[in-house]
Amino acid sequence: MVKNHRTIFHVDLDAFFASSEERENPHFKGKPIVVGANPLNGKGRGVVSTANYEARKYGIHSAMPISKAWRLCPKAIFLPVNSSLYERISYAVMKILANVSEKYNGKFEQAGIDEAYIDLSNANNFHNHTYYPREIAEEIKTAIREREKIIASVGVGPNMLIAKIASDFQKPDGLTIVSPQKTQAFLDPLDIRKIPGIGPKTEIIFRKLKINTVFDLRQLDQPYLYDLLGEHGISLYESARGKDKREIAKFHETKSVSNDYTFPNDTDDLSIILPEFFPIVRRVIALFESQGFRNFKTITVRVRFSDFKTHTKSKSAGYSVTDIETIERDALRLLWHFVPHSKIIGKTPSRRKKIRLIGFRISNFS
Ligand SMILES: [Mg+2]
Repeated sequence: MVKNHRTIFHVDLDAFFASSEERENPHFKGKPIVVGANPLNGKGRGVVSTANYEARKYGIHSAMPISKAWRLCPKAIFLPVNSSLYERISYAVMKILANVSEKYNGKFEQAGIDEAYIDLSNANNFHNHTYYPREIAEEIKTAIREREKIIASVGVGPNMLIAKIASDFQKPDGLTIVSPQKTQAFLDPLDIRKIPGIGPKTEIIFRKLKINTVFDLRQLDQPYLYDLLGEHGISLYESARGKDKREIAKFHETKSVSNDYTFPNDTDDLSIILPEFFPIVRRVIALFESQGFRNFKTITVRVRFSDFKTHTKSKSAGYSVTDIETIERDALRLLWHFVPHSKIIGKTPSRRKKIRLIGFRISNFS
C-alpha cells in the first residue's frame, strides 16, 4: 500500500433483500425474485424494493412500479419486504466487517442496511506485516459468503467516493481496486449516472448539454457548474476529479437514543414532572437494550421552557443497562438544575420559567 494515500474499502451486498430470500428458501435459486409491494395481478400500487439478477434480466429494477414489474415478468416470485429478516442478516454481516476492521487497525462505518466503509489506510497487525488490499477484500467476501451465505461486492479506492463507485463497477460478486494513480483513468469513461449525487433530475440537465461521461463533465469549469447547479455543481466538479475529503465516521460515536415528553400545560410542579421523567428514562434504556447494546458513556437531560428556550445538561461515566438505579439517580441530578428549588420543598411559588418539555438521551455507545 502506498502510505501517503488513504485506502478505503466499500462493501456492498448484492441484491441484498432478494439474496436474503434466496438464502432462506433455497428452492428460489435461479428464479426471478422481486421483493416489494403486492403486484395484485398487475393492479398493485407501490414499487419494487429489490429484484435479484435473474429478475433484472427482464428489465426489472428497484423503484420501478410493481405493476410494471408484473407485466415484464408475471411468473417471477413476488415477495413482501421482510424487514426483520434483512435486519438480522445485516447485523451479522456488519459484525463480520467490524471485526475485520478491528483486526487490521481500521475504522468502520455502516452506511446503510447493506453497505459499509472501512478505512484500512494503516492496515497492519502486531507483526507489523503490511497487507495488500486484495487479500483483505478477498477475506471479507469469503467470510460473508461462508458465514452468512450472502454475496458482496467490494471496492477499494483512495477515498469514499472512489471506493463506492468501485464496489458497483463489477457487480455482482465484484472486486475492484482503484489505485490513486489510476483514479482519473478509471472515472473518465464512466457514465455520469455512476457518480453518486447525479440523480435522474441532474442527469436530464447534463444529457441536454451532451454531457454523458465523467470525461465530458470534466470539461466544464467551476463557474459554469455553479451557474448550472449551485453548490451541488461545485461538489460535482470535485467528484469528476475523484476528490472526496470525507472521513469515516465511527458509527458508535455518533449514535444516540432519545425520547421526550411535552406536558399538556407548562408546569413547574415536580409532582407532575417526575412521574413523566422516569418512564422516559426507562423507555430510552429499553430501546437501547433492544438494539443489542449494553454499555454507554453519556446521559443528557433536555428541558424546553415555556419561552421555547432549550437547555441541556450531560454527564459522562461508564453506564450499563443492568444498573438502571445509577442511571435514574444521575438523570435526576441533571434534571435538578432546571427545576425551581423552592418547589421542591413546597414553599413560595418560583418566579422561574415553567417547563414545556423534558427529554432524555444516551450516547457514546461502547
Ligand atoms: Mg446493495
